[in-house]
Amino acid sequence: MDVIKKNINNKLNDLKKSDSPKIIAVSKTFAIDKIKPLIDSGHSDFGENKVQEALDKWTEIKLKNNDIKLHLIGKLQTNKVKHAVKIFDFIHSVDSEKLAKKISDEIKKNQKNIKIFIQVNIGQENQKSGVDIDNLESLFLYCKSINLDVIGLMCIPPVGVDSKEYFKKMQDLTKNLMLKDLSMGMSSDYLQALDYSSTYLRIGSSIFGDRN
Ligand SMILES: *Cc1c(COP(=O)(O)O)cnc(C)c1O
Repeated sequence: MDVIKKNINNKLNDLKKSDSPKIIAVSKTFAIDKIKPLIDSGHSDFGENKVQEALDKWTEIKLKNNDIKLHLIGKLQTNKVKHAVKIFDFIHSVDSEKLAKKISDEIKKNQKNIKIFIQVNIGQENQKSGVDIDNLESLFLYCKSINLDVIGLMCIPPVGVDSKEYFKKMQDLTKNLMLKDLSMGMSSDYLQALDYSSTYLRIGSSIFGDRN
């Protein structure tokens, strides 16, 4: 984590930017004893991609530590929304009206404050989650109309190609909607994401090592 922070600071210096992005330590698949040292060092933001795994790993820790913020970065099935709303502080994967409505209903029931990212299928890949660019604005307006606290957009660019053009598109879309936050950049491309004003970097293997 120290190396990552140093890389980020050097990059921000080069760009002459002062606002640091949030680093989401993506702890999916890692047991809590691997994660514990980072929590003890004061790191607050962690990412998981499965609701049940998050509940198992984080319920107890979150009761003891109010500073922990948990981010859902994986696909969310509507039948799991109820549980997701209990444990997560941020949901990065809203990509349909149906899902948005369900989340909004559960948030109201639980009186929780959850920050939302709309996931965009920026590479227009058939198999990928995320709303199509053409439908983004209408989904955004719908989310606002049901009072979801949408703070920004999220993407997972296609693998094996340069992320640059996708990051650039995301930056433009975010500006057009007058949103402030951007969830993009992973272990392989987080420094590049800073060129395009990412505010939430989702970094897993560079922090915790390879996943099995
Ligand atoms: C696993 C995952 C990450 C972290 O990926 P690394 O390459 O390990 O940094 C980031 N975002 C999402 C959506 C993920 O599923």
